[in-house]
Amino acid sequence: MSAMGLIVNPERVKIDVTPEQTFLEILKSEKKDRWKEWVAVKTKNGTTDLTRTVGEMGSGEYEIEWVHRDTTEAQSVYRHTMSHILAQAVTHIYGVKNVVLGIGPTIENGFYYDILIDNGAVQEEDLPKIEKEMERIIKENYPIRHFTLPKEEAIALMREKGQPYKVELIEHLPEGEPISFYEQGDFVDLCRGPHLSSTGIIRPFKLLSLAGAYWRGDEKNQMLQRIYGTAFPTNEALKDYLEFLEESKRRDHRRLGPQLGLFHIDTEIAAGMPFFLEKGVIALTELQTVWRKFHKEAGYIEVITPLVMHEKLWRQSGHWDHYRENMYFIEKDEQTYAVKPMNCPGHIIIYKSQARSYRELPWKMAEFGKVHRYERSGVLHGLFRVRSFTQDDAHIFMTEDDIVREATDLIHLIDRMYKVFGFEYRVDLSTRPENSMGSDELWELATESLKKALVETQVDYRINEGDGAFYGPKIDFHIKDCLGRTWQCATVQLDFQMPERFDMTYIGQDNQEHRPVMIHRTVFGSLERFMGILIEHYAGAFPSWLAPVQVSVLPIADRHNDYCQRVKETLANRGIRAQVDSRSKKINYKIRDAQLNKVPYMMVVGDKEVEEEKIALRTRNEKDLGAITLDSFIDVFEKEVKELADHSLFE
Ligand SMILES: [Zn+2]
Ligand SMILES: [Zn+2]
Repeated sequence: MSAMGLIVNPERVKIDVTPEQTFLEILKSEKKDRWKEWVAVKTKNGTTDLTRTVGEMGSGEYEIEWVHRDTTEAQSVYRHTMSHILAQAVTHIYGVKNVVLGIGPTIENGFYYDILIDNGAVQEEDLPKIEKEMERIIKENYPIRHFTLPKEEAIALMREKGQPYKVELIEHLPEGEPISFYEQGDFVDLCRGPHLSSTGIIRPFKLLSLAGAYWRGDEKNQMLQRIYGTAFPTNEALKDYLEFLEESKRRDHRRLGPQLGLFHIDTEIAAGMPFFLEKGVIALTELQTVWRKFHKEAGYIEVITPLVMHEKLWRQSGHWDHYRENMYFIEKDEQTYAVKPMNCPGHIIIYKSQARSYRELPWKMAEFGKVHRYERSGVLHGLFRVRSFTQDDAHIFMTEDDIVREATDLIHLIDRMYKVFGFEYRVDLSTRPENSMGSDELWELATESLKKALVETQVDYRINEGDGAFYGPKIDFHIKDCLGRTWQCATVQLDFQMPERFDMTYIGQDNQEHRPVMIHRTVFGSLERFMGILIEHYAGAFPSWLAPVQVSVLPIADRHNDYCQRVKETLANRGIRAQVDSRSKKINYKIRDAQLNKVPYMMVVGDKEVEEEKIALRTRNEKDLGAITLDSFIDVFEKEVKELADHSLFE
């Protein structure tokens, strides 16, 4: 065989090799006993297994780079190998004949495998047992071997192994290409790879949870069991992640929301359509009040448009052709109506209700618009993924000359509003996608205008090439919560198409008709989702201005009830949301209950307080602030609320 050469990056070290040598052999001779730090190899054909031969991946002289275990690429190689080990362990425990395998990919922060077992389902309690078997497989240090088969043989192999889902997957693969498999010990799986060279190189891992998942994500198909797990390069990284998961669980709005009396979800009656309870409505109203204040100052006006509108409108807007699958319809008087999935067409009807002049522009039309969009029941998730929600929507109708200034104002407005919650955020500018509408000049103008606005406001942003809407470029804001998770909320989308479709016009200074430009924008995105984010961000402990109950007045004994009622009334007269806990319970019980309900302030009242006409003030963070007069409380508290402070001004 002819000699070959490799250029090892980044150092560009040249080494002579033969085509039969595996990368693993080369790595071992290059790195000596440190070889286990590298888990795969990058070639011009992508990242691949160390067990492949040099001749298999190229000819002559070519460049490679070893993939170090601390890189994200290595992490996915580890995790992918873990998913195979998981599936192998399951076949060992439940019997290879009883286990039908679905797919087992890596995901952000981990991996999963979908399985179907006919002799009874896997239980949460079985996970440690499966982990133990996985440990054993790792200890066995099985070599992981790659091989390919022609399509027909691949199908035959999976049939023989009783794996109908794998057969289905192979049937969907392109004709003529060899089908790729990996084998470790007694286990073979259909897979593109790459994988570790053996099972023994695995790093710390943990199985996390169990869930149901339909085959191919389709509700008409069989429900499989999905086992989730994760793996990290070091014990410390795994520990950090498990703590993060614990903390996320503690903050989960699906648990906290009902527990704090904020909302209720009935999956049978209205899946994905939350019921907001008394306390939830108070918090939502406060959110809207702040929103209205900021938007009024920024020159917005508010409108309300119908929930249900004639199909004509949706045909003209293009939703009928492009968005029908996600819409709800109503038949009445032999006519078809749609429940609105977006607010824009309604706002355009208002715009077009009479002739418009340039003097009215820019016109900023806002609405807390309730929209309904169908989502598959499998993807619904608390307040995060719903079927009905309220957009804090607005459309700005303007001339082309207004674009930069309006976009700049919007970026400032969004920044001001996110600061209220202490959210940091990341900004993306998405540019023209491939199958877009409109002329090159318009796209150029639109994209440059948004860029100018971003530069003017000195916002750091990154460009998402080709990720804009088909009708125009957009800016997305991703907020970062206290756990470092990001959520896309605000968007600013430029649109030249809708005004065209609806033949919108205004009379310019020149007395001629012109076409306005339109911006679609939200700040919160969806009120419901934003509320979900806030619940998790604050772990239910809202700042005072947002808290449904701001003060809990706690009589120590029944004889203090009257005094407490008077305190509550004084507070209520000042617009402070207070309640009295007059139950015949011990004071410590009442304090704990108020803390569990995340009430910002507690006023404890006993003989001494009644006598001195004071209250003993405590915060939900167990701070005892001692006895003060009600007036001195109100002074500081009103300041706290007025400033929208995110912490107690008493602390
Ligand atoms: Zn694999
Ligand atoms: Zn819109």
